[in-house]
Amino acid sequence: MGVQKTVIERLEYDEDAELVVAHVRPRSRARSRCGVCGRPCPGYDAGAGRRQWRALDLGTIRAVLEADAPRVTCREHGVVVAAVPWARHDAGHTYAFDETVAWLATQSSKSTVTALMRVAWRTVGSIITRVWADVEAGTDRLEGLTRLGIDEISYKRGHKYLVVVVDHDARRLVWAGPGRDKATVSGFFDLLGPERCARITHVSADGAEFIDAVVAAKCPNAVRVADPFHVVAWATDALDEVRRESWNDARKLARGEPKRGPGRPAAGAPPRPGSQRAAALKGARYALWKNPEDLTEGQAVKLAWVAATDPRLHRAYLLKEGLRLIFRMTHVEAAVALDRWVSWARRCQIPAFVKLAKSIVKHRARILAAIEHHLSNGLVESTNTKLRLITRMAFGFASPEPLIALALLSLGGHRPVLPGRK
Ligand SMILES: [Zn+2]
Repeated sequence: MGVQKTVIERLEYDEDAELVVAHVRPRSRARSRCGVCGRPCPGYDAGAGRRQWRALDLGTIRAVLEADAPRVTCREHGVVVAAVPWARHDAGHTYAFDETVAWLATQSSKSTVTALMRVAWRTVGSIITRVWADVEAGTDRLEGLTRLGIDEISYKRGHKYLVVVVDHDARRLVWAGPGRDKATVSGFFDLLGPERCARITHVSADGAEFIDAVVAAKCPNAVRVADPFHVVAWATDALDEVRRESWNDARKLARGEPKRGPGRPAAGAPPRPGSQRAAALKGARYALWKNPEDLTEGQAVKLAWVAATDPRLHRAYLLKEGLRLIFRMTHVEAAVALDRWVSWARRCQIPAFVKLAKSIVKHRARILAAIEHHLSNGLVESTNTKLRLITRMAFGFASPEPLIALALLSLGGHRPVLPGRK
């Protein structure tokens, strides 16, 4: 049954419910303890009588543990239901069930977890929240931090945000909190405390004012650097703005063209350059986004087509690539290249990149600091990508807590293990 410190009195099979009921009681030394703190306490009363906890299935058959649930009087916590050695306080599932759900949630899809464990997704949310709370209570995740990355990530279709903190050295997610303001960021540093804040040497971030102001106030000894990942993302956004402009121009042209029915066009049908252009530009998105060394043959052809037919969009592409390559240079090379890039972008006559050049000038020192201190973009980028997948999976949770629990269980360096395997 996957239980410890427990006496199994008898097993019963309920044929109608197709349910195995294991009647159990705690071993004597695990009996009469406070459900909250676990200290031995005098008994109070029989509580609400027998109750059941969902246990792991026996093969294909559902199983529950059934036991008395007496109450005790704790000096600190008052009258509470006594602790049981097979389940968390206030939980309706056994430890083994909880750990299995937590392990599955970090390993597989939503539908796999809910179908295999026969629980609702919201129940999965409550389970992983309490499993993470236990991990958090048992470990000090904030010890020994020196180089941090702070990022913000949206969940729920862009209206709600989490602030996330990663440890550049241990390469793990350290903390996440709901919100997108100074109070959220302060929440983390208050948890860290002034002594440990003073030991932070580097903080990378995306340039957001609300993060920066708090870091400046709380971590006086930290070098503040710009995350290369976000700087390249700014350029990608600017490029996409230019691509959309080209696409809109083509669409305008297409509106004046004759409509065409489904199927192959008849021979001698009038040409429709605007429509063709709009369709091709829509498909060019990935060719423009990807690093040139990763392009497929078809995407390379598409890029050559952009170069030949849309010089402005191609110039925007070269500006984005130019900025990306600066992060592969040594610090000295990068300083020169960044200034050249800025003067190129300023004169490019593409508003999105003229604007980007201003941001780059504003963050110049921090961008170069990132290169000088080798704060690689890899960790923040991969954490960001994984978090996006997790937030998508977390749709359907009622609050951000299960999402945070799932993120920290997956990326926080304390992955759940399956019960019974060491
Ligand atoms: Zn207690």
